[in-house]
Amino acid sequence: FFIAFEGGDGAGKSTQVQAVAEWLRGKGHEVVVTREPGATPIGKRLRAILLDVSSAGLSDRAEALLYAADRAEHVDSVVRPALARGAVVITDRYIDSSVAYQGAGRDLSPTEIARISRWATDGLVPHLTVLLDVSPETARERFTEAPDRLESEPAEFHQRVRTGFLTLAAADPARYLVVDAAQEPDAITAVVRHRLGQVLPL
Ligand code: C5P
Repeated sequence: FFIAFEGGDGAGKSTQVQAVAEWLRGKGHEVVVTREPGATPIGKRLRAILLDVSSAGLSDRAEALLYAADRAEHVDSVVRPALARGAVVITDRYIDSSVAYQGAGRDLSPTEIARISRWATDGLVPHLTVLLDVSPETARERFTEAPDRLESEPAEFHQRVRTGFLTLAAADPARYLVVDAAQEPDAITAVVRHRLGQVLPL
């Protein structure tokens, strides 16, 4: 079973991924927690290029392809092998992040970005995508670390990204769980647990 957590910076994805993974492990599942970009050795190098402030001049299309390369490597060497042995895989970001950031956020076609990702993953789609939705203003208040290249983008960029995520979720409601991520972490985890209880043999 393949679960993706998506959402803007500061939505609380990593906290939720950990909480849900722990809960599933407690139920006896093998759980593999992973992330994009940067879950593999090659991916770590790509992540360094993508997030370094010195990459400011990176072209939009090159950026999109580097994220797709990271994803191809991730799916091939981490996600598919884990799914094949029956593990639950939880990824912090997946295709939707590319559609939202490189598509809606930058000036590229979200449809084309989705197509590149489909090719990069050989069509691997999550069974459930949890979208942690929060306004960029609320998210920004949560930042504690130094901003990376993306976090210094203007508010309008992050607003487009948010709308990009919500558009994806609205187009396929059966596969998405949209959660108001301004709530307390425990309340968010409870909503996710409830949904997983309906779709996973627990
Ligand atoms: O989620 P994480 O903090 O690892 O993401 C690192 C950075 O990469 C964030 O600033 C995020 O906005 C950005 N990102 C992006 N496009 C993606 C995935 C992440 O711009 N497809």
